[in-house]
Amino acid sequence: MATLVTGGNRGIGLAIAREFQAAGEPVAVTHRSRAPDGLFGVACDATDSDQVDAAFDEAEAELGPITAVVANAGITDDQLLLRMGEDQFSRVLDTNLTGAYRVAKRGARSMLRQRRGRLIFVSSVVALRGEAGQANYAASKAGLVGMARSLARELGSRGITVNVVAPGMISTDMTDRVPEDRKRQILDGTPLGRCGEPAEVAAAVRWLASEQASYITGAVVPVDGGAGMGH
Ligand code: NAD
Repeated sequence: MATLVTGGNRGIGLAIAREFQAAGEPVAVTHRSRAPDGLFGVACDATDSDQVDAAFDEAEAELGPITAVVANAGITDDQLLLRMGEDQFSRVLDTNLTGAYRVAKRGARSMLRQRRGRLIFVSSVVALRGEAGQANYAASKAGLVGMARSLARELGSRGITVNVVAPGMISTDMTDRVPEDRKRQILDGTPLGRCGEPAEVAAAVRWLASEQASYITGAVVPVDGGAGMGH
């Protein structure tokens, strides 16, 4: 019984993989260039379903059946609506939303055989709150919520739970790019008044993947310092 984390070579995905590893549980990460030290890594681009299927095959040959999948790989490509090209819109959807569909589909195939499983999607507080310049990203992250709730209904009778974590602003390469004045504004609207750490998202993901969360499905768990309250 192993876990596969997509985009696990840095940031939140790496913290999630380390959390499973620290608990002594078998875990594989997908990466695009180089596997992180000390973790079993498979190369995979989330926009290519053949690569996704091959990554699962490789991970299962090494670790046994994958019964938990964390769809974490994601990108931003911000632009105001009138300047946002259709390619730019589609590329973010293809990576963040269709990418999660690809891993959920291949993961569910193994989980259905085992009659147990955990699908966890990494969404964002932006899914519900929206963010100027992030129509593509917000659409992809809101799509994950609808997909998770649909799959929770579809797969619940087969022992598979499907949940979402919705992080707020977490210190990673992705948020390094956010301009300082915008970061300050976001933190002003964050009751805890600071960025989160990748390990704080990882703890929530591992809990959702554990037996302790056996009666939780279709849930959206905020890990956002309170920034999304009321949305
Ligand atoms: P990051 O940029 O450090 O990591 C993104 C990961 O996704 C990397 O491992 C990258 O290789 C991988 N990835 C991107 N495109 C891919 C593709 N086509 N195929 C395979 N892998 C691909 O950013 P992060 O902050 O660690 O983000 C991880 C997830 O958390 C993302 O889905 C992001 O949207 C989400 N998130 C982040 C924040 C934040 O504040 N950092 C907040 C909310 C949600």
